[in-house]
Amino acid sequence: MNENGLKQPLRTAAVSFLVLAALLIGYGAMRANLRKNREGTPKYIFLFIGDGMGNSHICAAESYLSWKAGKPGGEQLLFTQFPELALASTYSADHQVTCSSASATAFSSGHKTDNGFIGATPDSLPTRPFTMDLHEGGYRIGIMSSVPINHATPAAFYAHQTDRWGYYPITEQLPASGYEFFAGPGFAEYAGRDGTLQPADEYLAEHGYTVCYGEQEFRAHMDREHLVFCQESNRGRSADEYTLDYDTTWTPLADMLRLGLEYLGDQKPFFILCEGGEIDWCAHENTVYPMVQAILRFDDAVRAAYDFYLAHPDETLIVVTADHETGGLAIGYNFDWQFSVQDWDRIEAEWMAEGGRDTLSYPDRMRFQNECGFGWTTNEHTGAPVPVYAVGKGAFRFNGRIDNTDIPRLIVGK
Ligand SMILES: [Zn+2]
Repeated sequence: MNENGLKQPLRTAAVSFLVLAALLIGYGAMRANLRKNREGTPKYIFLFIGDGMGNSHICAAESYLSWKAGKPGGEQLLFTQFPELALASTYSADHQVTCSSASATAFSSGHKTDNGFIGATPDSLPTRPFTMDLHEGGYRIGIMSSVPINHATPAAFYAHQTDRWGYYPITEQLPASGYEFFAGPGFAEYAGRDGTLQPADEYLAEHGYTVCYGEQEFRAHMDREHLVFCQESNRGRSADEYTLDYDTTWTPLADMLRLGLEYLGDQKPFFILCEGGEIDWCAHENTVYPMVQAILRFDDAVRAAYDFYLAHPDETLIVVTADHETGGLAIGYNFDWQFSVQDWDRIEAEWMAEGGRDTLSYPDRMRFQNECGFGWTTNEHTGAPVPVYAVGKGAFRFNGRIDNTDIPRLIVGK
């Protein structure tokens, strides 16, 4: 055996190793591409926004559930059991602390904008919601909220305004979206700010939308191409812009979602935005009990989507997040130098004794809640990051630290 004879096998081995390595790298890239392709834009997409729902709000709701189960902790909402979790920053183009309209614009378009702007850039140019691209690509679109349909979060998916409080101009921009389905209590400033403009339902009817009040009317019109569901009690009037008292005669958010699913069906792809808006309103009032009840109703709506996911697990994505934190809520308040105890016995008893409404003065309400182990730092929003939970097709894209402007890109997988 000569020298070359010794070297030849070595050279062959080296070449084989390089070929194998190249194959492995190629295989890895191919696998990554396959996964990306396989996990592209889901056929059925749900985006849930708990307005103002920070980590502590979720913790408070789970603390309440645990108390109900006779435990100090450990009970969970449905959406906190989803397998993927990310943390999103929420700052706007001009403030660390965002408002709902700037954050909703980030969700709908991937652009930061100034507080108070809706579907518009800081230099007042209209943004393009990713739902428009989905719509043009054959997706049917449903927009629903537990607060008025022309409020900030739903509006960012169809309106372009530099004043989020201009409710009537927002309503006027709804028909141009061409989206199939809208649902909520109704419309704020239904006939304009001074009540002299054409009522929202008449205006929308003139522009191709059938506005239905209550479930019965909705079911009678499910063959229409463009439908709006409003709560029966808001027929012919404005939906309240701000209230803590939940109207128990209403079709709950979960049932609105089920109606929407029945209407949209599963033949064509769809995107549904579903907002729990009164979570934020209760947090602005610094009232923990109705805020927790609002989160439980929101979780019920997530369950309606989760049932759909279980029937279509390979094609459905559910994302649950918040637009910002409201109130600076803390689980724990050392009143009287003792370990903080979340005294749900007292909180629930007080709420029931008040007839399901909060009649305490603000200082009394704060003192009472502090005694019961909850602290609030502001009546407004905070700059705290918010959690993002995801399950289903493409859910793996939601992990680690992200920004609210990443949400649309992560949803569609591009
Ligand atoms: Zn708010």
